[in-house]
Order: sequence, then C-alpha cells, then structure tokens
Amino acid sequence: MKRLGLAVLILLALSASAERTVTVRLFWLHPPEKIRIEPQQATVRSCSTCAGKALPSAINLDAYSQVTIVSGRARIAGEGFQPFTFSGELTIEPRDGALLLTLKMPLEDYVAAVLNGESSGFRSDEALKAMAVAARTYAVDFGARHKLEGFDFCDTTHCQDVRLGIDSPRVRAAVVATEGELLWYEGRPAATYYHRNCGGETEAAAALDPQLRAPYLRRHQDAYCPRDEWHSEITKADLAAALKQYVRAPVATVEVKSRTESGRVETLLINQRPVTATDFRFAIGRSIGWDKLRSDLYEIQDRGDRFSFRGRGQGHGVGLCQSGADAMGMQGKTYRDILAFYYPGTSLGINAQGLRWQKLSGEQIDVLTTQAKDAQVLLPIAERALSNANDKTGWALSGHPQIKVFPTIDIYRDATGEPGWVAASTRGLTIRLQPLRILQEQGALESTLRHEFLHMVIESHAHVNTPLWLSEGLVIYLSYPERVRAANVDVTAVEKRLRTARTEAEMRTAYRDAGAAVADVLVKKGLAHVLDAISHGVTP
Ligand SMILES: [Zn+2]
Ligand SMILES: [Zn+2]
Repeated sequence: MKRLGLAVLILLALSASAERTVTVRLFWLHPPEKIRIEPQQATVRSCSTCAGKALPSAINLDAYSQVTIVSGRARIAGEGFQPFTFSGELTIEPRDGALLLTLKMPLEDYVAAVLNGESSGFRSDEALKAMAVAARTYAVDFGARHKLEGFDFCDTTHCQDVRLGIDSPRVRAAVVATEGELLWYEGRPAATYYHRNCGGETEAAAALDPQLRAPYLRRHQDAYCPRDEWHSEITKADLAAALKQYVRAPVATVEVKSRTESGRVETLLINQRPVTATDFRFAIGRSIGWDKLRSDLYEIQDRGDRFSFRGRGQGHGVGLCQSGADAMGMQGKTYRDILAFYYPGTSLGINAQGLRWQKLSGEQIDVLTTQAKDAQVLLPIAERALSNANDKTGWALSGHPQIKVFPTIDIYRDATGEPGWVAASTRGLTIRLQPLRILQEQGALESTLRHEFLHMVIESHAHVNTPLWLSEGLVIYLSYPERVRAANVDVTAVEKRLRTARTEAEMRTAYRDAGAAVADVLVKKGLAHVLDAISHGVTP
C-alpha cells in the first residue's frame, strides 16, 4: 500500500511538469510594426477572459489594432523576418507604434525552440540531450527574468536564443528523452550556464556573478574541446568610436590589466583608464560587430593604426561548453557523462517543481520543509542532537545549521543523488533528510539526527587529510557508544570499502567496522587523542 502511495505522488509530479508553461516575448529587441497571422487551426479573442471564436482566415494587425489573442496553431509573417509557425497562445498588443508579441507555450516546446536556436549544429544526439537538460534547468532556475515586463523570457541570448517554427526530429527526440529532467544542486535547480566554445578551459561562475554560490561551475581543463581560435583587427579610429563613453579619442594604448585564473581578460587599461573586459566586448559588439571579440580569452598587439586580437573560444566560458559536449557525445559519452563533466556535483532528476519550501527557525537550527508541522516534531530532537554532538566532542559549531526535509523519497533521491536507503546526508551546514514519516516508522529519526550532527561538528573541525574510517568511525561510536564493540580491523581495507560501497549491506558493514576500529583506538589511547588526530589529519 505504501509503495502505491508513492507511485501516485510521482505521477502527480510528472503531470504537473508536462503542463508547465512559459511566456516568451518574441522580437524582444525589434518588435514589428505589422504582422499577418495565417491560421492553421486557431481561435481568436480580444481579452484573456473573453470567449474565443474560430479564426477562419488570415488577419493583418498593425499598431492601430486592438489587443488580439490567437490560440492554437498559426503561421506568422511580417517584414524583416522569415515567416514561421507557432503553437500555443499568442498575445499581440499594440504599444508605441509597434506590436508586442508574447507567446505562452509548454516548457518542453520552449526547450525544443532553444535547442533549435542554440544547438542546431550538434552532431551528437547525446550532446543534444545534455543541452536539453541544461536549457530546461536554466529556464526553471532563471524563471521569470522579465517578470516586471510581464513575461518570463525574451527570445535572445540575454535569456536563451529561441528559434520557432523549426521541427527537427532529432531535437524533438532529445527533448522527449529527457522530459522533465533537471539538474539539481542541494535540492534546487542548478544555474546551468552554457556557452559555445571554452577554448580549452572553462571559467568559474564568479566571472559572471560574484554572488552565485555554485561550486559546480568551476574552472577546469576541457580536453574534449576543439579549441576555436580566432584573430581580428580593429582600427584605432573604430575603437575610439566604440569606446566613446569610456575614453576620449584618440585611443593610444590598450593593455591587459588583469586576468582571471583561467587566463581570460578581466580588466583592461585604455589610455590608462580601467574598463572591464565585459564592457569592452559589449561596446565593440554593439558598435563594430559581435564577431570581432568572440570571448575574453585573447592577447592584444599594437600594430600602428590598429590593434590585433588573437584569441580562443566563444562566449563567457562558464558551465557547459557546447563544442566540447558535442565532441564528448561523438566519442560515445552519454548525456549523463557530459552533464557530470561540465556541472560536477549536481544530480539529474525529474522536475520537482511545485514544492513550497517554508523556513522555520529554532533556537540554534533552521528547518526547511514543505509541511510546517514537521518543524514542531523536528526542532526539539534536532537541538538535542546538536547539543549531544557539541558535548561529546567538546567542539562548537560556527554557523547556523539547517535541516531540509524532503516530502517524498523520490524527491529526496532526485535532489540529493543519494540512494533511497540513505536516511540523510550532510553537506556543510545542511542536513538533507528523508520524509519524517518514513524515519519515524523505522524508529530512526533520533539516531539519524544524532549521526548527522556529529558528522557536521566533526567535519567542521577535521583536517582535509583525515581518513574516512576515522571520521565516520568516530561518528558511529559517539552516536551510541554502547552499541559499538571494539575490534582490531584492517583500516586500509575499511577505508577502501567506505569509498567504494555500492549496496546498503556493503555500506552497513563498512560503517560497523569503522566504528569498531575507532572504538579500539579509543580504548587504547583515549578520546582526546582521536580528536587531536582528526583535527591534524593524522592516523592515530
Ligand atoms: Zn532576456
Ligand atoms: Zn570547451
């Protein structure tokens, strides 16, 4: 019966994701003045609450038309763009002499349109699948970037480049194969930045957003990357025109002032005035052309009347490198491999949207939960477990720990990447917990919290070199000393088993033996000696 209940929950989560829609502003940068809508199968109405009627033939709209909402499937044509077919609900709103077009479409259709815009040149189907997950997660994580303007996303690379009206079976297959799948980090959708080509080394997240706490966006070598090399020249006269808001003409000197760890230009000195590499690239892009400086990874040379730029890569370099991803796919890697390579530490799972997390604060601990009554049960037990950890080690925790309670085992598994038989896991100051009901039924709530808080306290004082058997074993021992029997065990073997255990049984015996080994040391040398070894990273 219990399994059935969980299965129903999973189905609900799935259907919710299938119905998820996004609104996209079409022609965000250049709204058209006139358009023609040719219905294929569509209804029309003049306000969102008005009754719709069938649209039998084409209509022309201009800045003097009234608001028009077309639902269904239709072709749209106009000056300055290729006609294309859309499906969804298109609102056409005249404003300031132009037409504002907002398309409401299913999330999965949006992902396909992004892939058509960003990744149409991919040769590998697995790389397309990786991009589908990245584009979908990016959309969910950056949801409603344009909320104040009344829609979710624009149709340019400011959000994600969108190409409508293309029906590529390969793209569609990649989207369907990954339907609803997102990349998660600590229970939240990850910030899945991506770019065209990293030039051989990706860039850390701080280059885009110093506030972003995303350890999975770190600088690393990309051996798969077919490095894009480029060369361009810009005359000093063109440069002076492009940079007029920063420096006065003529532009005499352009030098690199600082670079990021990956070697990308961070700040330039132009006539001795500092200008960020991003401002520099955007100024040149807008004024001279976006193909002149394709990335911030370049060297500059003064050539008299012009500067020469030699560089590598295309785009900001953060997150997934599309060229590298495609190369990985062609070498037989799966989309999971590709995502794990470019976003290490994240986990892949079905959309768990619709969860409303509430934060409830206790004296020393915060609880994040979808059900407020969890906190009443949890807080007193958790505060007791934390005090126990402090008392037994004599170590205090600096910082405010939090416990995140997942509402179902499946969401817990998807969000944490842990198997369902792991009751909880701790990362830094956060304990991720299975549903309370399940832990209570197994009589495991109190012991689980004791274990995890001991982990947190010991981890926060442990040296990086501390072996796993020692820290895990001490946690096991201090949780319930009376349950551990000291034994002389081969700690090198236990260390290996802890690192490679795949099943619940392997994990249990490895933990038990680690506890026995630590109990053995404790009997011979005492607790103070073990704590000292842990904080110095030596084997007692
Ligand atoms: Zn945008
Ligand atoms: Zn690359």
